[in-house]
Amino acid sequence: MRIDLHCHSTASDGTDTPAELVRNAAAAGLDVVALTDHDTTRGYAEAIAALPEGLTLVTGAELSCRVDGISMHLLAYLFDPEEPGLLAERELVRDDRVPRAQGMVAKLNGLGVPVTWERVERIAAGGSVGRPHVATALVELGVVPTVGDAFTEEWLADGGRAFVEKHETDPFEAIRLVKGAGGVAVFAHPAAAKRGRTVPESVIAELAAAGLDGLEVDHMDHDADARARLRGLAEELGLLVTGSSDYHGSRKTVSLGACTTDPEVYGEITRRATGAFPVPGTGGA
Ligand code: AMP
Ligand code: ZN
Ligand code: FE
Ligand code: FE
Repeated sequence: MRIDLHCHSTASDGTDTPAELVRNAAAAGLDVVALTDHDTTRGYAEAIAALPEGLTLVTGAELSCRVDGISMHLLAYLFDPEEPGLLAERELVRDDRVPRAQGMVAKLNGLGVPVTWERVERIAAGGSVGRPHVATALVELGVVPTVGDAFTEEWLADGGRAFVEKHETDPFEAIRLVKGAGGVAVFAHPAAAKRGRTVPESVIAELAAAGLDGLEVDHMDHDADARARLRGLAEELGLLVTGSSDYHGSRKTVSLGACTTDPEVYGEITRRATGAFPVPGTGGA
């Protein structure tokens, strides 16, 4: 069984539509794929409608959080998408991404870059708007060669010249909301240092005590040392260990299934979840 528990679609900053994502997941030989767009569940219906036979969809989201001034991502799986508390918080974070992106456009204009909000909005095409969309506009304008090159101090990295913060949820509150909606909470890429400061182990221990279920250990942004350290920490804290690609289509170079999750861990996630069930593919529409 090949299980990839972290993928993005055009419902946020991926480049595959939800239907393309599930077709590509099946073509890549995956048995289980999770749709985890940033702060939104908007892609679910299309992914379910197109789900190929033999592929199971895990519904989820990647929630933007911040603790002690450090941004972090929380993967939430199999929660009830209608549960009002988590829904309200998701909408708050997602909606605040719009004025925040407009603020980054204004800062870029101040730096002499002729990017427009209309262009960024068109690139985001209705998905949760984020820095990768702004970065795509910068690539189109020839300001940087690739999306990744926009994540520097000069442009869009945390604290960079054109960076603007967005509303991000306290992760203790996010865990409470995810659990309240019957979901399972996994700390995404906890040691991805190239994205900015990372959360200290002492705080991860506090999150574990507050109900965190697991750590995403196998991720392309973690080297062998980071993975070994996180695996030890997960064992110490009684946390599940997951692995996933964090696939973004052509906006990142990583392939579907580049990292995967152990079937036993996947089974445990599905046993813990009460908000939604994995959706088995029936062949699609
Ligand atoms: P945002 O949620 O708008 O703050 O944008 C964060 C997203 O940008 C992350 O989820 C990644 O997809 C992407 N990102 C963050 N850091 C980098 C980086 N160093 N290189 C490429 N993409 C990045
Ligand atoms: Zn993303
Ligand atoms: Fe992330
Ligand atoms: Fe992600």
